[in-house]
Amino acid sequence: MSAAAPIVIVGTGLSGFSLAREMRKQDKDIPILMVTADDGYSYSKPMLSTGFTKGKEADELAQATAAAMVEQLNIDLRAHTTVTGIDTEAHELLIGDERLAYSKLVLAWGADVIRLSIDGDGQEYVYSINDLMDYRAFRKAVAGKQKVAIMGAGLIGCEFANDLRNGGIEVDVIAPCETVMPGLLPPEAGDAVVDALKAEGVRFHLETVVERIDKDGDGVRLTLANGDIVNADLVLSAIGLRPRIGLAANAGLETGRGIQVNRALETSAPDVYALGDCAEVDGHVLLYVLPLMACARALAKTLLGERTEVAYGTMPVMVKTPCCPTAVCPPPASAEGDWEIERNGNNVRALFKGADGQVLGFAVTGDYALEKQTLAKEVPPIHD
Ligand SMILES: Cc1cc2nc3c(=O)[nH]c(=O)nc-3n(C[C@H](O)[C@H](O)[C@H](O)COP(=O)(O)OP(=O)(O)OC[C@H]3O[C@@H](n4cnc5c(N)ncnc54)[C@H](O)[C@@H]3O)c2cc1C
Repeated sequence: MSAAAPIVIVGTGLSGFSLAREMRKQDKDIPILMVTADDGYSYSKPMLSTGFTKGKEADELAQATAAAMVEQLNIDLRAHTTVTGIDTEAHELLIGDERLAYSKLVLAWGADVIRLSIDGDGQEYVYSINDLMDYRAFRKAVAGKQKVAIMGAGLIGCEFANDLRNGGIEVDVIAPCETVMPGLLPPEAGDAVVDALKAEGVRFHLETVVERIDKDGDGVRLTLANGDIVNADLVLSAIGLRPRIGLAANAGLETGRGIQVNRALETSAPDVYALGDCAEVDGHVLLYVLPLMACARALAKTLLGERTEVAYGTMPVMVKTPCCPTAVCPPPASAEGDWEIERNGNNVRALFKGADGQVLGFAVTGDYALEKQTLAKEVPPIHD
């Protein structure tokens, strides 16, 4: 390793740029090189599911070009550069045949969308949106179109359903679950979101899956397992994300659901760290903004010499379904207790309480979503 090797951050998503920003608050000069497979634009990924509601094209959602970020953060940045391996012993990144030395390496390279292999000849009509470039391609394809079928009824599927309806597009949502966001919300809260989206005109096909996607005229015909046929101009696949672990595993780093790190964001290899969607921090895979911001603050200190463990506060997730505002703070998987649920139309207050009555998690929809700040103060932060 060269003594002059920089700190290298792989990935210019919210994790990578948040980390660089946090480091620059404390050290204006330490050499930082960012490497990214994409164009290096800075943007807020959560805004991608609000573009139709806000009437913003992809370029309007971009906050700064790579060149602007280089200047703003006093960094070097290599865009359109895909890392292909890590030599942890030599302290080098592999970019094809090139070797790039690092003093410390931070993996902030996100998660891959899960793709289903579905029968039929309509695959070219299937899009997924996990970054600004995906969004740009989808916006181009959807221009002038009327009907989108969304596969998946998780947070991202529901947000796009609401957003596309707000853009005047007809939407069908197809998913195997009984109600939406089953991993995040208790069923009563999911039902409230379904009812509100239906009132906006979204059509739901739940408890079934897409078996075939065939070309049909200028669009596609989806054949569902329950025998229904859905016609659409395009398909948006939103069935989930998987932390990118392949290159890390090949390099010998310990991986599980994500790249495994401790609370100091240290991987199993010396001088290699991970945060954001690719990381499994002390057993938690949290694909949200608040956890990655907390990690970026802690890791900036560590990289600058003061080893710091991340402390998570309570981190409610807002679901951007404006027809039914929703906030959720899921109870830890290990928590024991029961949901106490109050429902009044699309207004649901669901509190997950332990045996001693302590609120360990909550989900609130509709008018009750206004209570999220107050409830968040009652929920203990994630410790284990
Ligand atoms: C539509 C949508 C809406 C969302 N809404 C919310 C919300 O409301 N609230 C919330 O908390 N969270 C939300 N999320 C989740 C949140 O946006 C993500 O958790 C967060 O943006 C992840 O940031 P990241 O930097 O870890 O990963 P990414 O943004 O995916 O960045 C990964 C970076 O790594 C680069 N990269 C990958 N592989 C390589 C390689 N081999 N070599 C070089 N570079 C590589 C990529 O080019 C990219 O720059 C949403 C997500 C989506 C998709």
